[in-house]
Amino acid sequence: MKMLSACIAATFAALLAGCSEVPVTGRHALSLVDDKEVTKMSIAAFDDMKAHTRISNDKARNEQLQRVGERIQHAVPYWQMPDADWEFVLFDSPDINAFAMAGGKVGVFMGLFKIVENDDQLASVIGHEIAHVTAKHINENLSQQLAMQTGGLIGGIAMLGTGAGLLGTEAVMSAYGLGAAGAGAAFDRNKEKEADHIGIMYMAKAGYDPEEGVKVLEHLDEEMQSQGASTSSFLSTHPSNPERIQQLRDLMPEALKVRERNSIAAPPPTIIK
Ligand SMILES: [Zn+2]
Repeated sequence: MKMLSACIAATFAALLAGCSEVPVTGRHALSLVDDKEVTKMSIAAFDDMKAHTRISNDKARNEQLQRVGERIQHAVPYWQMPDADWEFVLFDSPDINAFAMAGGKVGVFMGLFKIVENDDQLASVIGHEIAHVTAKHINENLSQQLAMQTGGLIGGIAMLGTGAGLLGTEAVMSAYGLGAAGAGAAFDRNKEKEADHIGIMYMAKAGYDPEEGVKVLEHLDEEMQSQGASTSSFLSTHPSNPERIQQLRDLMPEALKVRERNSIAAPPPTIIK
């Protein structure tokens, strides 16, 4: 019975819900939430975070983040993130963590520099995080939460269009793997692999060396071995595994071609206000 209602719900979902094609991989993503609504909620969550988390005044790291952010944002086609008003913020937290939100809001925690040693590696993390947004993983996570709150997919579909507004800041944060509720895995293994795939093409297009993306996964792996996954939310939401490393190695010839073909020239250094 449970199976049957799940099937009916899935059919309704396919008929009624928004369906969009994920860039690069071409997967069809199902969404019960409106993109504009997701952007609005995400910006509110980001503002909340800026108000409650100390922002780093490390000049060199801030300059590095703005420099890399400037190049990566130009590698993301406009149509993949039409609502983006890009902002890159460095939080003064020892956690190994980074995230990107709908609306082009990117947060990096100082602790990330334990596993990131150059611009290329930082670009690979930011590219991966942006890919979680452009691949609609956030919309999917929010859709699931909405369905849970409204009693299943059909309930969620009934709220289509307006429903996303029912979700509070905590639900939004947890869709990104942030906040107290988000310490568990926000993205499953397939979503991680999809974000790696799209992310490595962003970094390559921005002119960074995609080989450095593999090194970040290796550093993550070493960090997990030494301190255990439970000590950092990033390590638990983005676990490294041989499958992810292998996928990046398989994509390397294509990524190197993308870098050669599309490489965006480095803009003049960004002036930090
Ligand atoms: Zn991820």
